[in-house]
Amino acid sequence: MAPLPFVVDLGGGVFAVDTGFHRDRFDAAYLLVQDGRAAFVDTGTQIGAPRLMAALAALGLAPAAVDYVIPTHVHLDHAGGAGWLMQQCPQATLLVHARGARHLIDPKALWMGATAVYGAEEMTRSYGGIVPVPAERVCATEEGMEVSLAGRRLRFADTPGHARHHHCVWDEVTRGWFTGDTFGLSYREFDTGRGPWIVPTTTPVQFEPDELRLSVERLMAAQPDCLYLTHFGRVTGVSRLGAQFLALLDEMVALGRTIHRQAGTATARHEALKAGLLGIFADSLAAHGCTLGRAEVAELLAIDIELDAQGMAIWLDRR
Ligand SMILES: [Zn+2]
Repeated sequence: MAPLPFVVDLGGGVFAVDTGFHRDRFDAAYLLVQDGRAAFVDTGTQIGAPRLMAALAALGLAPAAVDYVIPTHVHLDHAGGAGWLMQQCPQATLLVHARGARHLIDPKALWMGATAVYGAEEMTRSYGGIVPVPAERVCATEEGMEVSLAGRRLRFADTPGHARHHHCVWDEVTRGWFTGDTFGLSYREFDTGRGPWIVPTTTPVQFEPDELRLSVERLMAAQPDCLYLTHFGRVTGVSRLGAQFLALLDEMVALGRTIHRQAGTATARHEALKAGLLGIFADSLAAHGCTLGRAEVAELLAIDIELDAQGMAIWLDRR
């Protein structure tokens, strides 16, 4: 079979699948293969999930070879395709954080919550829909829990900060974390001679900076060789990336507190947060040696900056 343009073989039985959400190289899901058995880590949206089944088929594996479907958390760019994949894969168990399980068994609240953020039109266009997962096929994870993929150990870490329903998955074979959104975003357009650039994501509605810092420090403590990010792909040089992430997190928190102290309407605060975030990111990218202009940076980060500003406002109001 011809290689699929949206699948990258990362070695060690790990395949990155570009789910096609929003643009190329924006949203990844992963296929893990060990001795003829398979697992999906993150699923993309329901629109993107068929690419995961195509990646499986391209390796000559049947749907019944899939033992696990593992959304890192229940935001729809990570879990929207989970129900559909569970329908396709009769042997699979859904492994989801205990706080997210009920939302995939009965996804109505999840769908309505996302519609409140993105609007009905965007939900239809970009997310497609969501299928419930039968409760008897769902296994809730907890801190330190391990599962075996044909003898390959996968370990779960409870990692709040981006969302309370977020776990990360440690793969002992490649010494890598599947980080979902906990360790932020790193788009390949921002790679320079210094390596990748990484940035926290504070999307609604459970951004908690102190918890996020602790979660990232715990992931770094394992001394991983790589991170498998959902947005986007595998990155290495984790100690440098961790330091950069935490420095940017501090800057974002300080920005939020400063803007929140200044009187103004919610709209004015939102616009100030967006402008402030773009300033922080553009300065950081320039220091990283990125030669893209500010307008290109703004365009590549437009979706993230909009959602980050929304998520920061919710955090600031809750404090
Ligand atoms: Zn998320």
